[in-house]
Amino acid sequence: MARVVEVVAVGTELLLGQISNTNGQALAQVLAEHGCLHYFQVTVGDNRGRLVGVLRQALDRSDMVVTIGGLGPTQDDLTKEAVAEVFGRRIVVDEPSWERIVARFRGRGRPTPNNRRQAEIPEGAVAIRNDFGTAPGVLLEAEYGGRERVVLCLPGPPGEFVPMARGFVAGYLERWAAAGGGRTVLLSRSLRVAGMGESQVEHEIRDLIDAAENPTIATYAKPGEVEVRLTARAGAPEEAQALIAPVEAAVRGRLDPWVYGADGDTLGSALIRELAARGLTLAVAESCTGGQLSARLTEGEGSSAAFLLGAVTYANAAKTEVADVAAGLIAAHGAVSDEVARAMAEGARRRAGASVGIGVTGVAGPGGGTEEKPVGTVFVALATPEGTWCRRLSLGGDRAAVRWRATQEALVTLRRYVLGGAAAFAG
Ligand code: ATP
Ligand code: MG
Repeated sequence: MARVVEVVAVGTELLLGQISNTNGQALAQVLAEHGCLHYFQVTVGDNRGRLVGVLRQALDRSDMVVTIGGLGPTQDDLTKEAVAEVFGRRIVVDEPSWERIVARFRGRGRPTPNNRRQAEIPEGAVAIRNDFGTAPGVLLEAEYGGRERVVLCLPGPPGEFVPMARGFVAGYLERWAAAGGGRTVLLSRSLRVAGMGESQVEHEIRDLIDAAENPTIATYAKPGEVEVRLTARAGAPEEAQALIAPVEAAVRGRLDPWVYGADGDTLGSALIRELAARGLTLAVAESCTGGQLSARLTEGEGSSAAFLLGAVTYANAAKTEVADVAAGLIAAHGAVSDEVARAMAEGARRRAGASVGIGVTGVAGPGGGTEEKPVGTVFVALATPEGTWCRRLSLGGDRAAVRWRATQEALVTLRRYVLGGAAAFAG
């Protein structure tokens, strides 16, 4: 039986938005890897009363509570006191931890009485050795409300937290699962989809989502693409993999060719593989994307197999000198135009001797928009042996979003050609 683990992140800094809860994320990954049920993650400030309240709520509804932070030497470090209060325990000094603290200070001053606080733990708890800092973690196995509960308190600094989460906590979860009748793992596989919006993706696989139990299927909209995540629960990773395989095949059957990869794949590197497999080469002249398109096409190893040239032709003169765009064309139509995008794609293709050229020009904003070509207007052109095509896009969002989406659209346009040839642009 998988058991429920609740995470309580302690720190006013988190609530003020001064830091992100990266420890919570790291811990959530460990919990998923061990098949724990993780229904709640709560953040609370450095306030003893509220912390006690949150711990009680967590202990009422979860089998294990893991706290993050508040183990330090200062007065706003309250986690251990709050845990002791909830369980009606005294606070005692753990002598081995105190000796470790004293030894750590040897040669760099003397520990203060505050440091002695770091060696304190609730009576009956066990200190967890901290190899990267002074404050030990705390493990308390105790009854609460008539049920067995486990409380783990971990230090806040990520350099101390992460090794403890991946080390002690992971080991504890293994033993805990074994004692509770077997281990479960949660395995996820993310299919990456570009060229189709989230609602269309959902529409195509609605019945699969509804019917899915193990693995479950969920869609997530990411900037310029969609992730379809399959998550299986099983006794071992291989079993989970076997449950995922047929469902993945069914999803791909519906969404192909728009599934460009899985898990850590990126669109740029997937595309390079597809180009290289067909013996195609590529050259890019880009303006508003400022090199992002070339950067994403060279993210993966082995990009040189297909990527020949990437030029950031920002100034009009650069478009002319580097991509052979006729000055008169720019004067007649403006740098952001169908005609100039096409000429950039053709110029890059010709200059590099590539099979395919891409040209991107647009208004990324926030200024520079006109009534005719408002911010977000982007032209993406593709020059190929079969001819040149250009699409006019109206992209939303701020400058960063426009640039990202323009890049994404250029990659998707290219992929459409690579997979479908000129026919992909007919009609
Ligand atoms: P210290 O001994 O440094 O006081 P602590 O165990 O008391 O450690 P906190 O005081 O809560 O932990 O946090 C110490 C530092 O660790 C914070 O300033 C912050 O930079 C980082 N930190 C705390 N909680 C988190 C978290 N949930 N995610 C990422 N970083 C965190
Ligand atoms: Mg602290």
